[in-house]
Amino acid sequence: MQKDTIAVHAGYNNKEGWGTMNVPIAQTTAYAFRDAEHAANLFALKELGSIYTRLTNPTTDVLEQRFAQLEGGAGAICVASGQSAIFYAIVNVAEAGDNILISDKLYGGAVTLLTHTIKRFGISAKIFKSDDASNLEEQIDDKTKAIFFESLSNPQIAIADIDKIVEIAKRKGVLTVCDNTVASAALFNPIKFGVDVVVHSTSKYTNGQGSAIGGIVVERDGLADFFKQNSKRYYHFNEPDESYHGLVYTEVPLPNFCLRIRLALLRDIGATQSPYNSWLLLQTIETLDIRMEKHSKSALEVAKFLETHPKVKAVNYPGLESSPYYKKAQKYFKDGKASGLISFEVEDYDTAKKVIDSAKLFSVVVNIGDSKSLIVHPASTTHSQLSETELKKAGVNPTTIRLSIGLENPLDLIEDLKLALK
Ligand SMILES: *Cc1c(COP(=O)(O)O)cnc(C)c1O
Repeated sequence: MQKDTIAVHAGYNNKEGWGTMNVPIAQTTAYAFRDAEHAANLFALKELGSIYTRLTNPTTDVLEQRFAQLEGGAGAICVASGQSAIFYAIVNVAEAGDNILISDKLYGGAVTLLTHTIKRFGISAKIFKSDDASNLEEQIDDKTKAIFFESLSNPQIAIADIDKIVEIAKRKGVLTVCDNTVASAALFNPIKFGVDVVVHSTSKYTNGQGSAIGGIVVERDGLADFFKQNSKRYYHFNEPDESYHGLVYTEVPLPNFCLRIRLALLRDIGATQSPYNSWLLLQTIETLDIRMEKHSKSALEVAKFLETHPKVKAVNYPGLESSPYYKKAQKYFKDGKASGLISFEVEDYDTAKKVIDSAKLFSVVVNIGDSKSLIVHPASTTHSQLSETELKKAGVNPTTIRLSIGLENPLDLIEDLKLALK
């Protein structure tokens, strides 16, 4: 099935159960069991069904099935936010004494989570260059449990060398985790390029209207075999889980990675997505494909305009032929479409501030992926806690402006920027 068809149908059969055209919200905390045996069977995984909404929910279940299919995965699990999706994906494989490898181009929240917060759990992060993966292999050791990167990174708008990262990871037997938030499931599917696990902040393009925070983890087919083949590195998928009456995950015929997140991490830490947010995402996911087409097409038009403007020193958009990421965008993304983020440089800090304050259609917001266009000055906001050298490393100058192109008519957006740049 094609992705735009999957987005409106997968995971829901209106001839069974509810019988409604729109998927209802199962706004409930818990579920009634038929009898004591039914309850016991559910807890023992002999039968599948809902026990308690911290673990599963019928509305969320539809979204999980739909999203898994959209990404070409075997299974998915929704969680409360993009941040908790990243956290669960990492601590599902790493524990105290282990390390992970993370890209040098990541979302700010991922950087603080993976370099500061999980350090206090005893998990250390080593940084590799995701543009070419040139220093990846040499940093992998026996304790390396995951390689984490963003397909199209926020805010650097860089595209990782996905083929090379996957090739090294497969040879070394290390799990790859790709944050696909900015590219979205409509434009890119990491699993089709060999990635093991995909995470999203669904708060961004997947929601598309800035109306709900959410996260999701998707796994490829066959991870149980991967964990068996690399049983020394991933022993806890192959040994009895004492906390779940001795369950061995690789012996359960369900997508293993998400199963362990559900049974152990969601059970114990509980960053569950609310059924209402799952329902909102089921509404918006139906239009993901057409929205990403428009975000990408409009962003290209705006980027082309900026490239020719005398007051603009440089434009970074992977859909532009002048971009160092153009070839990768063509190789990986659907029809070379590069989503809605653009960054550009003006002469000095004062000009940057003036442009931001003068733009009328663009809201000054530190978010991305909204139907409304957004503008931000990273150096004084999202990246204000970084030192000058860290800013340079992150590719953020005091003269950098970042745009998230919405669904307005691009002619109006260009007109607005023209006036702001006057
Ligand atoms: C926003 C974002 C996150 C965090 O997601 P939340 O839903 O805000 O917790 C993670 N990764 C990327 C690339 C993001 O843009």
